[in-house]
Amino acid sequence: MKSVVYFGSARQARWEAAETLPCKLDLILERLRLRERVRNEYVAIKMHLGGHVGYSTVHPVFVRRVVRAVLDGGGKPFVCDTSQAALTAHERGYTAETIGCPIFPVAGPDERYFYTYRKRYKNIRDWGLGGHIEDATFLIDLAHVKGHPSCGFGGAIKNLALGAMITETRSAIHDTFHHNPYWLPEKRPDRGALDAIIRSCPFEAVVRDKHDPTRPHLHMEQCNQCGRCAEAGPDGAFRVQRVNFRSFQEACAISTKIALDTFEPKKRVFLNVAEHITPLCDCFGFTGAPVLTDLGVLGADDIVAIDQATLDLLAPLPVMAENLPACMEVQPNAGHPFQQIHGPYKDPYIAVRACEKLGLGSRDYQIVDVMPMDASRRPAPPLVGAAAL
Ligand code: SF4
Repeated sequence: MKSVVYFGSARQARWEAAETLPCKLDLILERLRLRERVRNEYVAIKMHLGGHVGYSTVHPVFVRRVVRAVLDGGGKPFVCDTSQAALTAHERGYTAETIGCPIFPVAGPDERYFYTYRKRYKNIRDWGLGGHIEDATFLIDLAHVKGHPSCGFGGAIKNLALGAMITETRSAIHDTFHHNPYWLPEKRPDRGALDAIIRSCPFEAVVRDKHDPTRPHLHMEQCNQCGRCAEAGPDGAFRVQRVNFRSFQEACAISTKIALDTFEPKKRVFLNVAEHITPLCDCFGFTGAPVLTDLGVLGADDIVAIDQATLDLLAPLPVMAENLPACMEVQPNAGHPFQQIHGPYKDPYIAVRACEKLGLGSRDYQIVDVMPMDASRRPAPPLVGAAAL
């Protein structure tokens, strides 16, 4: 059976508040029967609360409506995020007064409150899940949809995979990128080869390793797999390869499974707010110009279906190249818009497929628009041109 993904478009037919995203979110919460499901539940609303001067995270107007629905239903809500983001959230407008419930760091203010899960994946052995996620009995994953320099895209999966874990685990997930070697000294590169590779990259993605300056260190975030360094480097000594980029998303899938397995399947709700879609993640602590047009809000009980549907709806949209930071480039033939921005190896569907493989949901979904566009509201063409008035 297909998973149902409820959708409210950012586009309005009329000049009416009822047709805007906060009100469409209300309709989605009704269709998900959130109020009926949260009675007496201890509800963790996992968000990305951003950092520093970022202002494009999910606006308090949306958060308050989710909190209100939980309170109406007799649940006990709290919003949570990593300690750094949670402890500074008031600087970006998130307080108990504005959103209607307390805000907790997932693992406590000093990250000492977590549960350890043991599972070997590349460089990772232990995963530290925030204690407040573990202790909650109901999860609402309220994610802001945006681009991400490590994996192309951030949505429901990424919000949990990184944000529910302690700093040490988040760093280890990023370090999976370096597990498969991309520098092969046995190929006997010339003395000047490394400098030539470093010079060839216009994005400063390659630097000398700080521990061993004879080797390169590749910053996965900056690398868009453009291939310029392949022409500069010695044959085969430096490789920008798919496997390094795939690791991050596979680790995200494992991390997501660890977090979700602490909840009964019927006690998980996923909400994606796809507006002000920036090229970079909210952790960067600033807000850039949007690079895709606002899509809308989505809601589902299936984390795989909601991210698959979000990506599918964004897939045909053109990248707003004029809004991209000048230090980045668009590769029009790289695939999904997020691959056009971040490179072909940062295929945003990798984590979605990996989560499906781990049994977390289905990529087979059905979209239900909670307020389909009323075509009769579109004005008919004028009988005479404006110039004739
Ligand atoms: S592939 Fe392009 S972006 Fe990546 S390191 Fe090489 S030159 Fe830099």
